[in-house]
Amino acid sequence: MNCHEASAMIAAYADGEVDGLRGHTIRRHLHLCRDCATKHRDLVDLRARIRAEVPRFKAPAALRERILASVESTRPAVKAMPARVDRWRWVSAGALAGCAATVVAWVVATAVLDWRTNEDLAVEAVTTHVRATLGNHRVDVASSDQHTVKPWLSARLDYSPPVRDFASEGFALVGGRIDYLDHHPVATLVYRYRDHMIDVFVRPPPTHALPAPLRTVRGFNVVHAVGSGMDWLAVSDLNAAELSRFVDKLKE
Ligand SMILES: [Zn+2]
Repeated sequence: MNCHEASAMIAAYADGEVDGLRGHTIRRHLHLCRDCATKHRDLVDLRARIRAEVPRFKAPAALRERILASVESTRPAVKAMPARVDRWRWVSAGALAGCAATVVAWVVATAVLDWRTNEDLAVEAVTTHVRATLGNHRVDVASSDQHTVKPWLSARLDYSPPVRDFASEGFALVGGRIDYLDHHPVATLVYRYRDHMIDVFVRPPPTHALPAPLRTVRGFNVVHAVGSGMDWLAVSDLNAAELSRFVDKLKE
């Protein structure tokens, strides 16, 4: 492994997302290479700072409502139980209630898991954005030319993200980098709009439930959309309306 290969994996390794042979290879490289070891240590320090200084985040009311709605929607199965007093009917009613309880538990578990996945994704996207900002590692390839950024990203991923510059509309392409999101390498397009930096994570649409179109995490807006065969997730301190307008352009 050389420094170039190592640098693409250091962030994921610092997050404990690289194991097996790749983990062993990068561990060996970090042992031998002072530059990469420094990068790795900076990331670990930064992560510790983010953990220590950023407040923990509470489950919102929307999750509670979603669970209550899920439970409500399974109720008719229980209401439909026979009213006549009949021993065998009671036995089957008991079985039906048991089934309903299982369905409720399953629905609740699925709602919680979907919510967690999306919540984690929004938080992960914001953490990655903050890490790039604080670590002053905004781009791996600095260029406003889509014909430079796109091939650079395509050469390092198993898909080719659409890359466009929107400088004429105020959203100037600054460059791109590779991040890890949702346990996969992802193309990150970096744009500047006035004084605001925007990170746009572009990947093929995932199979699991998709995040809400708009969320706010620690004051950052997270806008999600699907379009042009890609999943777009933008993070910025730019206001939600303008960020959403930008994501609409991207996904066209
Ligand atoms: Zn190195």
